[in-house]
Order: sequence, then C-alpha cells, then structure tokens
Amino acid sequence: MSVTASAPTTERPLIDGFGRQVTYLRVSVTDRCDFRCTYCMGEDMVFLPRSEILSFEEIQTVIGAFVRRGVRKVRLTGGEPLVRRDIMKLIEALSRQHLATGALDELTLTTNGSQLAHHAQRLAELGLRRINVSLDTLDAEKFATITRRGRLAQVLDGIFAARDAGLAVKLNMVALKGINEDEIVPMLDWAHGEGFELTLIEEMPLGAVAFERADTHLSLRTVRDRLAERYTLTPIARRTGGPARYMQVQETGGTLGFITPLSHNFCESCNRVRLTCTGQLYMCLGQEDRVDLRAALREGGTEGLDAALDRAMMLKPKGHDFVIARRAAPAVSRHMSVTGG
Ligand code: SAM
Ligand code: SF4
Repeated sequence: MSVTASAPTTERPLIDGFGRQVTYLRVSVTDRCDFRCTYCMGEDMVFLPRSEILSFEEIQTVIGAFVRRGVRKVRLTGGEPLVRRDIMKLIEALSRQHLATGALDELTLTTNGSQLAHHAQRLAELGLRRINVSLDTLDAEKFATITRRGRLAQVLDGIFAARDAGLAVKLNMVALKGINEDEIVPMLDWAHGEGFELTLIEEMPLGAVAFERADTHLSLRTVRDRLAERYTLTPIARRTGGPARYMQVQETGGTLGFITPLSHNFCESCNRVRLTCTGQLYMCLGQEDRVDLRAALREGGTEGLDAALDRAMMLKPKGHDFVIARRAAPAVSRHMSVTGG
C-alpha cells in the first residue's frame, strides 16, 4: 500500500489549562505481555478480562476523535502491542484512515521485539517509519532474568528484521543500578555501530514490583557524567515535547537519548496524553486524574467523546510528583503496562 499525504484539517485544537497543545497520543492496545520484566510487573501479574479491553472499533473511534482535534502522532504500546490478536488489522486501518490521508504525521509502535521478525516488513509497508524496541541487555542470560520469559536471540532477530525492512530503530534501555549499568557503554557502542539510536530510561515508580525500587534506581545524571569521561557528548536541539533529551556522540556518530523524569523536570513542554487499554485517558503518567473515554463514547457517541476531551484538557496537571525514596509507595499504583509506556 502506498501512503500519500494531503493537508489535514483541525476542528478545535486540544489546549490544556496551561496553554500546552496536545498533539501526541499514546495508546495501550493491551495490558498483556509475553514478558514479565522485573521493573515493569510482578511474576504473577494478573491481566484484565478481555471484556474490559477496548475493541478495535472503539480504539479507532477514539483515535479518530483525537486526530480531528489536532493530534499528529500516535504511538501504539502496551503491554506488548504485537501480542494482541489481529493487531495488524488495527494498524492497517489506522494507516489507511490517518497516514494515507496526511491527517497524521506519524504512526509508530513501542515493542519488546519478540514478534517483530514476523511483522517488520508489513509495518514498513503500512507507512511506519520508526519503531522503538526495548532492550536492556545484550547478555542472553541476563536478558532471560530481567524479562523472566524473553529470549534475546528472538528479539535481536526482530530488531534486524526491522532494520532490513527500512524502519529506523530506536532502542530503549532502562538503566538499573547493579543490574545493567556496566552494560551501558557496550550497548552504546553496539547500537551505534549497528545504526540504531539508543535512549536510556530512568526507572519510574509505577506499580508495585517484587523489589525495592530505590535499590535499582540509577540517576541518569550520574550515567551522563560517567559517559562524558569517555565520549564527547554534544546536546542536540531535537525536542519531542516529552522527557527525552538528546546528545550527539562524536566518537560513534550516533544519537543518545536520556529520559529523566525524576532527576529532570520535563513537564512544561508536555504535549502528550495516554489512553489505557480500557479507555481511560491519563493526562500525566505520574498522576491519577483520568477521564473515562469508553463510558463517554458508549453513553454519548462521538459528541460525548468530544466533550470528554474538553474536560480532559482542564485536568491536565502542570507537572508530576515522582519520587523514588526508600519504602515509598509507588507514585501511582498502576503499572506501566496498563497505562502504556
Ligand atoms: N512491551 C513494550 C516494550 O517493552 O517496549 C511496550 C510497553 S513497555 C511498558 C514501554 C517501555 O516502558 C519499555 O521501554 C519499558 O522498558 C518501559 N518501562 C516499563 N516499566 C517501567 C518503569 N517502571 N520505569 C521506567 N520504564 C519502564
Ligand atoms: Fe512487557 Fe514491556 Fe512491561 Fe517488559 S516492559 S513486561 S515487555 S510491557
């Protein structure tokens, strides 16, 4: 399918109470996952009954409402988006409705990569240009320990299939003290050598997990200082409206991102909201305020949905209040897999 663009029309842009325009929607299409990453969920994570999950039709309607109100970028995430049954049908429909018409600038995906080898080619054909793949280690044993279920070789196959299909690959690595901090340098050299971007993510206190988060929390400020002793890091101006800041690494010629929600505040330029797989719209990853778009849609149709988006804009907070302290309760009780990372 060829994807062509034409001029978009925006009805009423989504502007929050602090004057920030929402142009980026992240959609969790499932809370299920084939991995159980230790920092993301417990071994015995209980997933939601399927009846609570938005249907593809509902997801399409909600995304359509956002696109009409000026959202230009949609990221599908989860849980693991590629384990939802028939997920490619949803991506085909979104591509046809919004990429082919030029209404969206970008449709993309965050994945653990386990199913990517099967889908990479089709994703590229549908107009996806970039993809984020999570990869915390290149050590097969450690990979199995962190993900509890994953196989490194399968994920690497997926990553290379994506590159071969022409997708730009960005690797996301959660930096964990005492677990993979000694692998940041080898990961950077490997990723840039293979032509992938690398983004380091600071662990966030989302949902209860089986360990004390303060034990594994590693400030990316410390990581950056350590990397600066070895590499020449030059900040680059790229701004995504999110928590990532990017550096050019002179020695490798590649780009390195830092997502630092705790040690650096990024809220003033926030342009995004998140839709959970049950249709709850969260205006901030670090706050509990939400609007039930599924109820709004079921009770009021597309008009009800539009009114709910207006309500949501008034609820978007100025900033989050994340803190990782010893024995602190999670900042929010829901796991990243529910809200969508
Ligand atoms: N399953 C897909 C994946 O792993 O890429 C998509 C969903 S996952 C929740 C999205 C991203 O969130 C991943 O890069 C993952 O490493 C990250 N993540 C999960 N829990 C986190 C936490 N508590 N703190 C920081 N990042 C987290
Ligand atoms: Fe699954 Fe992604 Fe969470 Fe890992 S980080 S358990 S792959 S949702």
